[in-house]
Amino acid sequence: MAKIVIIGGGWAGCSAALTAKKTGADVQLIERTDLLLGLGNVGGIMRNNGRFTAAEENIAMGAGELFEITDQCAAHRNVDFPGHRHASFYHVIKTEPAVRRLLTERGISLRMMTRITDVIREEDRVKAVTTADEKTFEGDAFVDCTGTTGPMGNCMEYGNGCSMCILRCPAFGPRVSISEKAGGCDYMGKRADGTPGAFSGSCKLEKESLSEELRQRLERDGVAVVPLPEEMINEGKLSKKVCRQYALPQYAANVILIDTGAVKMMTPFFPLEQLRQVQGFENARFADPYAGGKGNSIRYMAVAEREPSMRVKGVANLFCGGEKSGLFIGHTEAISTGAIAGHNAGRYTRGGHPLILPDTLAIGALLAYEKAGGGMITFAGDEFFQYMQTQGLYTTDREKIAARVEAAGLSRVYDC
Ligand SMILES: Cc1cc2nc3c(=O)[nH]c(=O)nc-3n(C[C@H](O)[C@H](O)[C@H](O)COP(=O)(O)OP(=O)(O)OC[C@H]3O[C@@H](n4cnc5c(N)ncnc54)[C@H](O)[C@@H]3O)c2cc1C
Repeated sequence: MAKIVIIGGGWAGCSAALTAKKTGADVQLIERTDLLLGLGNVGGIMRNNGRFTAAEENIAMGAGELFEITDQCAAHRNVDFPGHRHASFYHVIKTEPAVRRLLTERGISLRMMTRITDVIREEDRVKAVTTADEKTFEGDAFVDCTGTTGPMGNCMEYGNGCSMCILRCPAFGPRVSISEKAGGCDYMGKRADGTPGAFSGSCKLEKESLSEELRQRLERDGVAVVPLPEEMINEGKLSKKVCRQYALPQYAANVILIDTGAVKMMTPFFPLEQLRQVQGFENARFADPYAGGKGNSIRYMAVAEREPSMRVKGVANLFCGGEKSGLFIGHTEAISTGAIAGHNAGRYTRGGHPLILPDTLAIGALLAYEKAGGGMITFAGDEFFQYMQTQGLYTTDREKIAARVEAAGLSRVYDC
């Protein structure tokens, strides 16, 4: 049986593991921390704007399991908030265990708290990946889903210091770029002013630290928009954040909260003393990142140059997904790119041609899209969502999306 090794257990790695397994391979998923989902443990927003279309394309192609979980674990569904329509917010505490159960049930072997630090090459292929304590994982194909965040040195150099985020580099060790170790070339995303990387765009507050009135409003509506006093409005922060879909004036003029079981605050960071001057936030306290009063994690530090098939350029049997595979923002983007990467790793081990998704699908269009200046893109807003609309790709009509996938000859393609 062919063996596929996936490095990095964020949304992209979990998705790649599921599609690789469906090709009949023996699949090992290696994650350096004690949690799957990586950054997905602090996000939660799904199905907003063009992400709805992309989720349904995945479902029609046979990669629906992770969307079933996020739908089932939704704390709120079909919510509109500034600049965004029909969003759902998955519960960030309930989702990870549900994904872990699914992967185990499917027979995917999970190696948690295992950090890959090096690669053994044989000609233009990866033979094995290794850990610092000399464990070796051999495979016929590999998928790099290690993300692009941090590690600490990058957050210190390009951010405001280690913000103590969910990835917990000081405890579990730094991210390592497998693509680069294997001989591929990585590049960095850039902010509008050319600074490498960008700040993650939201933080989590302890729910108990909000006023009773604000907490009840948030739990009832899913969203709370709290206007900021004029002197606290800082539009400069908008250009620093990754999430271009939230770089709208409303996000500078208000504190926008989202109920994901936890309280998601839609700003990269906010000085605690100032925040506590806003009504309802008098006792506010950050839950993630711990240093959310000062900074946030820095992302897009190591994106691999890849082919349309998701293969890392120059390495025959290494594929990539998620943020590693492009300047893509989001869980849906990570699941979508992870799914095709895992599937093509499986095709490679069977000697088949890779599947290239056509640009008649939103996912294929995302993979082919390049923003001038190398900026980040997402189905959920900004330039690429506008592009989806002008190309007629955006729709929330499930039957239409399934028909489009069928017309491309890709219905249930991931099932075989
Ligand atoms: C605060 C915050 C809020 C967000 N909110 C949302 C949201 O609401 N909606 C949305 O769609 N998107 C959101 N995002 C963006 C989204 O979370 C990411 O774009 C997406 O989850 C990236 O997934 P990934 O699998 O590519 O990478 P990651 O989530 O970074 O996963 C990479 C994994 O690889 C592991 N790893 C790294 N190096 C190694 C190694 N050497 N060996 C083994 N394992 C390794 C890491 O530990 C990690 O688990 C948010 C991001 C942040 C930071």
